[in-house]
Amino acid sequence: MTNERADLRNIAIIAHVDHGKTTLVDQLLKQSGIFRSNEHVDDRAMDSNELERERGITILAKNTAIEYKDTKINIMDTPGHADFGGEVERILRMVDGVILVVDSFEGCMPQTRFVLKKALETNLKPIVVVNKIDREFARPEEVVDEVLELFIELDANDEQLEFPVVYASGFNGTASLSPDPATQEDTLRVLYDAILEHIPAPIDNRDEPLQFQVSLLDYNDYVGRIGIGRIFRGTMKVGEQVSVLKRDGSVKNLRVTKLYGFMGLKRVEVEEAFAGDLVAVSGMGNIDVGETVCPTDHQEALPELHIDEPTLQMR
Ligand code: GDP
Repeated sequence: MTNERADLRNIAIIAHVDHGKTTLVDQLLKQSGIFRSNEHVDDRAMDSNELERERGITILAKNTAIEYKDTKINIMDTPGHADFGGEVERILRMVDGVILVVDSFEGCMPQTRFVLKKALETNLKPIVVVNKIDREFARPEEVVDEVLELFIELDANDEQLEFPVVYASGFNGTASLSPDPATQEDTLRVLYDAILEHIPAPIDNRDEPLQFQVSLLDYNDYVGRIGIGRIFRGTMKVGEQVSVLKRDGSVKNLRVTKLYGFMGLKRVEVEEAFAGDLVAVSGMGNIDVGETVCPTDHQEALPELHIDEPTLQMR
């Protein structure tokens, strides 16, 4: 039997622009109660100087971590625009499932197709959220038919075609499994439950040799370049000697100095992280997208990542 991280889910949220991704994630964060617990952590664990530093960190793609029923859910935002195709692909490689948000009045739009195609090609399991169910001319049943049509056009496999549908209003923070607006429950409970039930938990192989891959870059004045990615295998610990397998084929040996996990909208320093975790690292020189971090005595690169847009340059 394979071990699983039952306490963890990694998802990306994909949608056409304005279909309500941001509003929905804000509500998921609010309802998960993380604001409260996060403040608590800040009060105790960080002085104001550190808080300032945290605020200085801006992230290319937004990452939000919420907690529900003792499970941490990492939600990666994705740019909907075709110019960022490479970034979308790299984000999709970090997660195990997607939430596809579709406006219940507008239905499927060009960016819906673009991002869904990439998610299906990455073999991810989708949950469909028919959103803005509170809109006056909402037509949720027709929109679900359109979404199914699109899945078929895009060659979804059988498992992907069995997507669960949640009808929601991110704006009101309500959701239901039925298209009848009168059945909306006054929380997003059914959406959280759908995530836990339908999105696969990451494999737990924390005792195997480390493999961490950088998928996104960030930068801040205090810590310099930051690499964000997923631990695909093993355990990453502060202080440990590792090798970075560079894109040009060279190898750079260094020590892990700073490791961050995600909590709410913030990054929090952690001492170690495990297979399945999405983390940020700093103090790794000019670490770059696609590069693998692994033990010096077990150098095994992860498959290359698609890089095709100018956003990768340091800003
Ligand atoms: P994003 O571009 O997908 O991140 O979309 P936003 O979350 O920024 O929302 C786009 C617009 O739709 C904003 O004006 C929101 O207030 C509105 N909106 C978002 N969710 C809902 C909803 O559930 N119902 C209605 N009626 N409007 C919504």
